[in-house]
Amino acid sequence: MLAIPYMRWSPGSGWSVVSIRFRCLENECDHSSHPGGKYATVAGDTPRLYNTISLLTAEDTVAICEGEIDTITASISDIPAVGVAGTQTWKRHFAEPFRGYETVYILADGDTAGREFAETLADKLSNAKILPCSQGEDVNSEVLKYGKKILLDRIDG
Ligand SMILES: [Zn+2]
Repeated sequence: MLAIPYMRWSPGSGWSVVSIRFRCLENECDHSSHPGGKYATVAGDTPRLYNTISLLTAEDTVAICEGEIDTITASISDIPAVGVAGTQTWKRHFAEPFRGYETVYILADGDTAGREFAETLADKLSNAKILPCSQGEDVNSEVLKYGKKILLDRIDG
């Protein structure tokens, strides 16, 4: 499993790891032989936003991605991004850090589930703008195929 640390920074203690999620990296795995599914969370852990450092570095705009991998891909493509594990894990207080931005781009997967995720989030954030990926693609798959320019161009719109 890929270990994905959830890191936080505080003035008193600097960086710390507040949780770790795990993602299965085996192709063709049906995830029946290990804990969790494709993703596993530490038992009893509370839902969290991923990569919140982007909220400190972003200026007028920030992006939200569904899941950690797309969030990492957006961030290394020069788009500050925060990850949400899915709309079921969204908490009301998650909206607060996004309210001050001019625009919050929701980089949605190019499928029905992705659109539903984006529309559900956009209902909670009045400054949201949904930018769907091409049909059948997500942020990571598009950047792997076409490079980061496809994301940057979409945001420049
Ligand atoms: Zn697996």
